[in-house]
Amino acid sequence: MRASHQDLVDPFGRVIKDLRISITDRCNFRCTYCMPEEGMQWLPRSEVMSFEEIEHLVRIFVDRYGVTGVRLTGGEPTVRAHLPVLVSKLAAINGPEGPIDLAMTTNGATMRLVADPLRAAGLRRVNISLDTLVREKFIEMTRRDELANVLDGIDAAQAAGFEPVKINAVIERGVNDDEIIDLATFGREQGVEVRFIEFMPLDADGHWVTEKVVGQDEIVAIIDAAYPIEQLPARGAAPADRFRYRDGSGVIGIIPTVTKPFCGDCDRVRLTAEGDFRTCLFATKEFDLLSALRAGETDDQIAARIEAAVATKWAGHRINQVNFVRPDKSMSQIGG
Ligand code: SAM
Ligand code: SF4
Repeated sequence: MRASHQDLVDPFGRVIKDLRISITDRCNFRCTYCMPEEGMQWLPRSEVMSFEEIEHLVRIFVDRYGVTGVRLTGGEPTVRAHLPVLVSKLAAINGPEGPIDLAMTTNGATMRLVADPLRAAGLRRVNISLDTLVREKFIEMTRRDELANVLDGIDAAQAAGFEPVKINAVIERGVNDDEIIDLATFGREQGVEVRFIEFMPLDADGHWVTEKVVGQDEIVAIIDAAYPIEQLPARGAAPADRFRYRDGSGVIGIIPTVTKPFCGDCDRVRLTAEGDFRTCLFATKEFDLLSALRAGETDDQIAARIEAAVATKWAGHRINQVNFVRPDKSMSQIGG
């Protein structure tokens, strides 16, 4: 590790601290708000970053720029074979404040099988996606009959000692907005923080419209009427606004990307499975780091590419503006 690092700062003074890595574009679900039912073109394996390549790039971000948080995502990260091997490589990387904060976002379908080995390999935190507690609706939303396995996976993640285990629930009007209270109740009883995510225009089939978004204020009002909540102090760079139940039964989060963008505090950058660097979920431009690595560029040269890319990070996404242009990739291809 370098004795000191240089901050990676964008043109608006935001210091990059968090790297999200899509480790595969493949997935065992087909969530309607993310992927089409059929017809996804998977990347050839040779174009996907190897574990060694991921580790190499993560070391540049951590050693040079003091990135402290790394989240594995996808696609579905747990479909990648030998995932604990990657986790142990990354868990061994020390940042300026000690080991990096290594987390993963998963659909939870196989969590009951992999929770213990992932925890033992050094993964610290997991977010498990769960949008509905109703089996038929789960099948409708994910196009897979896996609700029971996901619920077992949440139990397994808690038993394995992940701390915290959080639940991600994307709320889409007319689909699962009638379950906001049930999901909140689930979180209170299970002892997990449910994070309600506003539906974003990153669905592959392009059915997103503003009317389908259930905004933060509406979600808060619905939950507050059932279980009084109060907002916790400012979130800093974290994407979720957090609220605590007044009766002390835990916390919920809301990720209000559409109705209350939090771009001003964004400290995140992303790597896609094919090693393209993105400075925003909604970016329309990517910077190919994997080809540079495979061409034998030095770390200094790759770092120069990273800095040039970060210099293009924009102030914020334009979802609510007339000139908003959807990225040509959907959520599973970018890595949510
Ligand atoms: N497969 C894993 C999962 O589903 O948790 C990780 C990848 S997934 C792309 C990451 C997160 O993005 C999930 O919580 C998922 O629900 C969310 N997501 C996918 N499409 C979305 C959309 N159009 N709007 C908001 N969130 C979305
Ligand atoms: Fe797969 Fe996650 Fe997208 Fe669902 S949200 S299709 S689980 S990548």
